[in-house]
Amino acid sequence: MAVATPYTEKTDEQKAICEMVRQFADEQIIPNAEHYDHEDSFPEPIVEQMKELGLFGVTIPEEFGGMGLDLTTYAMIVEELSRGWISISGIVNTHFIGSYLLMKFGTDEQKQRFLPKMATGEVRAAFSLSEPECGSDVQAIKTAAKKVDGGDYEINGSKMWVTNGLLSSVVFVLVKTDPSAEPKYKGMTCFIAEKEPGVSENTGKFAGFTVPPKIKKLGYKGVESTELVFDGYRCPADNILAGEQAGLGQGFVQMMDALEVGRVNVAARGVGIAQRALELALRYSQERRTFGRPIAQHQAIQFKLADMATQVEAARLLTMRAARLKDAGERSEVEAGMAKLFASEAGRFCVEESFRIHGGYGYSKEYEIERLYRDAPLLLIGEGTSEIQRMVIGRKLLQQHKI
Ligand SMILES: Cc1cc2nc3c(=O)[nH]c(=O)nc-3n(C[C@H](O)[C@H](O)[C@H](O)COP(=O)(O)OP(=O)(O)OC[C@H]3O[C@@H](n4cnc5c(N)ncnc54)[C@H](O)[C@@H]3O)c2cc1C
Repeated sequence: MAVATPYTEKTDEQKAICEMVRQFADEQIIPNAEHYDHEDSFPEPIVEQMKELGLFGVTIPEEFGGMGLDLTTYAMIVEELSRGWISISGIVNTHFIGSYLLMKFGTDEQKQRFLPKMATGEVRAAFSLSEPECGSDVQAIKTAAKKVDGGDYEINGSKMWVTNGLLSSVVFVLVKTDPSAEPKYKGMTCFIAEKEPGVSENTGKFAGFTVPPKIKKLGYKGVESTELVFDGYRCPADNILAGEQAGLGQGFVQMMDALEVGRVNVAARGVGIAQRALELALRYSQERRTFGRPIAQHQAIQFKLADMATQVEAARLLTMRAARLKDAGERSEVEAGMAKLFASEAGRFCVEESFRIHGGYGYSKEYEIERLYRDAPLLLIGEGTSEIQRMVIGRKLLQQHKI
């Protein structure tokens, strides 16, 4: 059962795209998610169809073969994909962040080289900040790059939790190029590290880039999360985002900019999973009977439904507001942080309430809510935990209201 969402805030183009993606989710993603989740296998046929629909190039300009749409429309699409299965949106999400980095900071040569193939999905991108010993504290990363004879940079170190880690061909990776820099963020650079997709031990010009076996996870299955090990991997200076002259030492600032759109992206995923949890609860509560009537007729259950629907709507509005601010060229650090915080928590809340409404059956793998219950917690962590969002929002508030 699909719950009608208010389309009043959508343009005709946005309505048409969202309806197309919703139909794709209803027909191709939801009926197949259980299989791929259970096997923890990559949903190749679904991804091939997403390529045909152009979903890898939503925000890439038309001159590079993409759809040239804005962040707001992208967020609407992500909501629909995540309503189907958050792993499916995960496959395009870090790819989208990579294309954002290229569009905003890439040299003309870098854009020409990567964006057309990224728009079709032929080249998939990953985005890598986290390391085994740090995630929230990005400035504590240890992976480092040093210039060597011939002008290349040699990268050494380990990255952790890289979505699309194995199947990507390019990884936007943050490393230290000046470990003694103070403040630390000035010594960090973003490299576009290339490799063979699907290959664990890279050789030839990509030698020294290893992808260990995928990490076994609670949920968010199907899409691979991996470690990346760089051991003497040589990256040409031309692969520094924005070029060597302009990009050296700019990596932290570039990545933090990208995280702003990344947070809108995760917020949209929170809305999508919350929406689906609500739909499942609305259906189940009208089918299941206790004490002679459908459980939906018990006020306690109606209150749960009311709270869920309110959270979904509020999360969607915050997400759209953050996306629209960014599209208008305004800073949206606080708004993106609020949207990410609220929508990811709304996702967890709605999934748990829907799970409770399903009673014992919520614990059964026969019911979709069981998968959502394992998937939802990821959104509390990726692109900065709820604690980190509160830190970002709180710090900005105090700057804005300094006495
Ligand atoms: C499935 C999955 C996919 C991911 N994909 C990617 C990816 O593609 N690319 C990538 O770079 N990363 C990725 N990540 C990593 C993710 O961004 C980090 O896990 C996240 O930023 C948190 O870092 P951490 O795990 O090191 O936790 P830590 O930073 O060690 O934090 C541990 C706990 O302490 C809290 N905490 C930390 N500092 C403070 C503080 N100052 N005040 C209060 N509380 C604090 C945190 O909120 C958390 O509760 C992924 C993670 C997962 C689980």
